[in-house]
Amino acid sequence: MIGKIKFYFRKMLDLGGTTRAKIFILLTFIGMVSLIFAIIADVILGENLAEILVLVSTILVVPIITIVAVKKDKVQLGASVIAAGIVFGIVPVVFLFGGGLTGGGIIWFVFTYLYIGIILVGKFRVIMLTALTVMISALYTIGYFWPHLLPLHVHFAWYLDSIVSILLVGLAVYFMVQIQYRLYLEESEKAKAQAKKIEELNQAQNRFFSSMSHEIRTPINTIIGLNEMTLRETVSDEVAENARSIQAASKILLSLINDILDMSKIESGKMDIVKVQYDVSKMLSDIVSMTLIRANEKGLKFIISVDPSMPSQLFSDEVRIKQILINLLNNAVKYTNSGYVALSVHCTKTDAGKALVTYSVEDTGIGIRKESMPHLFDAFRREDEEKNRYIEGTGLGLSIVKQLVELLGGTISVNSVYTKGSTFVVSIEQEIADESIIGDFDSNKVNRIKDAHRYHQSFEAPDARILVVDDNATNLLVVKKLLKDTKMQIDTADSGEKCLNMTLLHRYDLILMDHLMPKIDGVECFHAIKDQDGGLCKKTPVVALTANAGGENQAFYKREGFDEYLVKPVDSTELENTVRRLLPPDIVKATDEKSEEYESDSIVREIRKKVPIAITAESVADIPAELVAKFNIPIINFKINVSGGIFYDTAEAGSDAVVRCMQDDKAVAKTEPPSVEEYEEFFSEQLTKAQHIIHISMAKHISGAYANACEAALAFYNVRIIDSAQLSSGIGILVLYAKELSESGLLDPDVIVEKIEEKKEKIRSTFVIDTTNYMYKSGHISNRMHKLCDAFMLHPMMTMNRSSIGVAGLWGGGIDKAREKYRQKLFGNPDDVDKSVLFITYSGIKRADIEDIKEDIEEEISFEKIYIQKACPSVSINCGPGTFGLMYSRK
Ligand code: ADP
Repeated sequence: MIGKIKFYFRKMLDLGGTTRAKIFILLTFIGMVSLIFAIIADVILGENLAEILVLVSTILVVPIITIVAVKKDKVQLGASVIAAGIVFGIVPVVFLFGGGLTGGGIIWFVFTYLYIGIILVGKFRVIMLTALTVMISALYTIGYFWPHLLPLHVHFAWYLDSIVSILLVGLAVYFMVQIQYRLYLEESEKAKAQAKKIEELNQAQNRFFSSMSHEIRTPINTIIGLNEMTLRETVSDEVAENARSIQAASKILLSLINDILDMSKIESGKMDIVKVQYDVSKMLSDIVSMTLIRANEKGLKFIISVDPSMPSQLFSDEVRIKQILINLLNNAVKYTNSGYVALSVHCTKTDAGKALVTYSVEDTGIGIRKESMPHLFDAFRREDEEKNRYIEGTGLGLSIVKQLVELLGGTISVNSVYTKGSTFVVSIEQEIADESIIGDFDSNKVNRIKDAHRYHQSFEAPDARILVVDDNATNLLVVKKLLKDTKMQIDTADSGEKCLNMTLLHRYDLILMDHLMPKIDGVECFHAIKDQDGGLCKKTPVVALTANAGGENQAFYKREGFDEYLVKPVDSTELENTVRRLLPPDIVKATDEKSEEYESDSIVREIRKKVPIAITAESVADIPAELVAKFNIPIINFKINVSGGIFYDTAEAGSDAVVRCMQDDKAVAKTEPPSVEEYEEFFSEQLTKAQHIIHISMAKHISGAYANACEAALAFYNVRIIDSAQLSSGIGILVLYAKELSESGLLDPDVIVEKIEEKKEKIRSTFVIDTTNYMYKSGHISNRMHKLCDAFMLHPMMTMNRSSIGVAGLWGGGIDKAREKYRQKLFGNPDDVDKSVLFITYSGIKRADIEDIKEDIEEEISFEKIYIQKACPSVSINCGPGTFGLMYSRK
C-alpha cells in the first residue's frame, strides 16, 4: 500500500520536469489535502456556507491551474494566479466568514506567506507579499475595531477551529520543509555526480593530451633530428634549402602542439605552477641563444641589458618564465623587419624582501594599431590579418603568455606605436634564493651560441663513453647522430634491463635516459642504477630525455634525483651543451672559438636602467628651466604658428621675440598643441627610460593638448594622462608636486595619480590681463566681454574653473591699480594659502616691475620659495603682453 502511494506520488512529481515545477505540484498537493480536512472540520462546526463554498471551489480549481501551468511550462504564471486568488479571495473570506480573530483562518495566513515565499520569484513575489501584509493588517484592524460586524465563534468552535487549523498548518509546513529538503538533497547528489563526471572527463582529456603530446613529439624528434644531420652534411644548396624548410616547418608544428596543449591545460585549470630554485644567468643565456639565431637570420640586432644587481638565484617557475619570454621575443623577431630586438631585465627589492623582476621585450617592428590593443591578449585573435597573412601564427601565443603571467601572480603591459615598434613589459615577483648578484651578464660564460647554418661541434671528447637508453630505435639513432661529431663513444640500450646489464660492465661518464619504456621505466631504471650491486655507474650523472613536456615534469625529474631534464624533440645545441656540462672537464676539449667571434658582433650588451615613474609635462606648464633640469622633467613643446612659419615653443621661439611679434599688428600668431603623432613619439621615447609615465596636461577645455595626449596614450598601457585643470605655472606646481611624490619612493602610479587629482583641486591659477584683445582673438573671451572691457578700459582677472577659463573680476583704472587689487583679492585670507611655493608668471612686463610686485607680496605673506617665471610664448600669445599671474596652492 505504502509502495503504491509512493509510486503515484513520484508519478505526480514527474509531471514537472524542473525542481521548481515539482515544488509547485507538492505545495498544491499539501495545500489541497489540508484544505479537505479543513472543510470537514468546517462542516462539523457548521461554519458559514460562503466560506465552505469558497474552499470547495478552491479544491476544484487550484489542481487544474497547477496541472495546466506545469504542462504548459508556465509555473510562474500558474503560481501567481493561485497566489492572487488566495490573497484577494480566500484570505478575506476565511477571516470575514470564519470567525475573524476567533477563527482558525488566521493560522492559515502563515501557510500563505510560506507559499508565496517558496514558489513566487521576482517582482511578483514582492507585490504579493506586500498585498498579503496589507490585507492581513486590514483584516486584523477590522477584527479588532469592529468585531460586531463579523460572525464570531463561540468558545468551543474557537477552540476546535484553532486546534484543527494549527495541526493542519503545522503538518503542512512540516511536510513542505521535509520534501523540499529531500529535493535539495537529490539535486545536490545529482550535481555531485555531474561534477565527478566532468572531473573524470577532464582527467581523460588531460591523459589524452599528454599522451598525444608524447606520441606527436616522438616522430617530430626523428624529423628534426635527422633533418639536422642533413643540414650538417655537405649537401647541395638546393638540398640544404629544403632541409631548412623542413626544419622551420617542424618547429612551427611543434610550437603549435605546445600552444594547443598549454591552452587546453590552462582552460581546464590544470596548468600547475612549479616553483624551483634556478640560476638567472643560465636561464637568460638559454633565452639569448634561442632568440639570437632567429634575430640573426633576419638581420636584426639583438640587445640585451641585464641589471647587474639582480640576485644570481631566484625561486619561481623557471620553465614558464622562459616560455613567456621566448614567446614575446619570438613575436618581436617575427614582427620586425629591420632594426633591433631588445631584452632588458631589471630588479627591485620589495618590502617583503622579494625580487620584483621586470622583463621588457622591445622591438622596432611593425607595431600594433591602437584599436587592436584592447583585444591583443584574446585567444585565436591575430591583429592586422591582411598585413600579417604571410607571418605564421595562431593567435594563441599572447593569450597563453598573459594567463601564465597571471598564474605567476605578475602583470603584463604593452606599449606600441604603429609602424614604429612595440614593448611588452612583464613584472613577476620572485623569491630570492641566493642574494649574491649576477654582476655583468655574459651569456658566453654559460652557453655557446651556434651558427644555425654552418654546424660546428662545440667540443670533442674521444675518451668519454656515454650510454643512451630508449625503447625507440629511431630516437637512439637521432641522439647518436646528433652527438657523432663530438667523437664520444656512444653505447645504446633499448630497454631498462639491457641498460642495467651494461652498467655492470662499463663505467659510463654520462647516461641519457628515456622515461616511458615497457617493463622497467626510466625512473625505475635510474634508481636501480644508483642502488645496483656491483654497478659501475652509481655516481654517473643521468639526464632524463623524455617526450613529457611541462614545468611539472622538470620538478618531478629533479625530485627523483636526475641531474638534468631535456625534452624531445631535443634541441641539438641544448643536448650538446648539457652533455658538455656534465662530462668530467678533463676529458672535454673545446672546439668552438669561432662561435664566440660570431656572437660578439651580433649581441649588443647594454646596461639600461629605467626609472619606475616619469612625470612629464608640456611647455605651457611654465616651469623654470633650472627646475626642469634639476628634477629631470621631460617636456613636450607646443608649437607657435607665426604668419605661416611654425616654431616649437621655448626651444625655437623665445617669449620676448613672440611678444615683439604680437605687438606688430600685421603678424598673426597662433599656438598649436602637439599632434597625436608627436605625443606618441614623445611617450615612446620616454618609455625607453621609464617604466610608467604620468603626463600632466594643460586644462582640457583650453586647448586640444589633453585630447591628443589621451588619444596617443591608447597605444601604451603604461601612460596615464592627467587633466591638470590649470594654466601655465599652475600646471607647473602640480608637476613639481607629482615629481616630489614619485621621488618619495611611492611606486604605484595609480596612487600617485589619485594624490595628484586631490592636489589639483587646491591649486589656483589666475591672471590679470592688460587688454582683452589677445584672449578675444584666441577665442577664450566672448565678444561682449571684450567690447565691455575695451569701452570702459577694464582689466579682467581670469581664473580656472572646471578646466575652463573664465572672468573672476574686473577692475577699471590703470593696470597698476588692477594688479594691486588682484593681489589683495588673492591674499585677502593669508591663512588659507599654502606658503611653500608661489609662482609669479608674466609676459611683456619689465622685470623691475615684477620684482616690485614680489616685494609687496613678501611684505604681507612669507612664501618659502617664490619663482619668477616668464610665461612661455604659447601662454603669451593667448593672454597678451602685460599679463601677470600669481599661482599657488591652497591649504
Ligand atoms: P601569433 O601566433 O599570431 O603571433 P600571438 O598571440 O603571439 O599570435 O599574437 C597576437 C597578435 O598580436 C599577432 O597576430 C600580431 O598581430 C600581434 N603582435 C604580437 N606581438 C607583436 C609584436 N612584437 N609586434 C607587432 N605585433 C605583434
